[in-house]
Amino acid sequence: MTESIEAVPTIYAGTRFRSRLEAGWAVTLDGLGILWEYEPELIVLPSGAQYLPDFWLPEVGTWLEVKGPNTPRQEKATELGKARACRCDGACSCRWFGGELVLLGWPSHRSPNQPGYRARYGHAWWGAAYGPGAYLTECPSCGRTHWVTMRRPWQCRGCRASLGATPRFYSPAEQLIRFGERDSLASAHVEEDMRQLAEEEELAEAGDDDGW
Ligand SMILES: [Zn+2]
Ligand SMILES: [Zn+2]
Repeated sequence: MTESIEAVPTIYAGTRFRSRLEAGWAVTLDGLGILWEYEPELIVLPSGAQYLPDFWLPEVGTWLEVKGPNTPRQEKATELGKARACRCDGACSCRWFGGELVLLGWPSHRSPNQPGYRARYGHAWWGAAYGPGAYLTECPSCGRTHWVTMRRPWQCRGCRASLGATPRFYSPAEQLIRFGERDSLASAHVEEDMRQLAEEEELAEAGDDDGW
């Protein structure tokens, strides 16, 4: 990768992200109709380490840690995934069915079904930080798109309804899940966001920063 997609602060939907990759994930979540909160909570892990995950998806009990190609470290995400995983004997009584899920969100990836497709305008690519693989699915009852593991019974993490006998599970980088690259937003918002970003930077230079 010659281009850095990590270090450029980017504003999207009124939120200032540390990187274009994070903003790209916000766009992707919006495209999937998944509600998100950016860096809502500083968590103290069992090891005592402090951890600020990138996204919390409040309707489906899932954390999403966005990882660039040059940031392989994922120990904290794995520790959080382990700490919040379901440990119920028999029927799950966790607040979120199956416990809280911790995902790693990587840069977009070209679909394995589409050779030669440019990764830059590729498809959402993720992995579970802890435990079995996670697949995207849609709940037939509440309509929420969310990630689940293949652990049975197959129930919606949000509303706990059955996902049915033959749910459609989407794998990482499947063709149907386009990754919402920040650059591909062909809308007036881009100009608006750039202006907001420029104003913020002027403020920061003037020493008027609020500490964040
Ligand atoms: Zn449980
Ligand atoms: Zn549901």
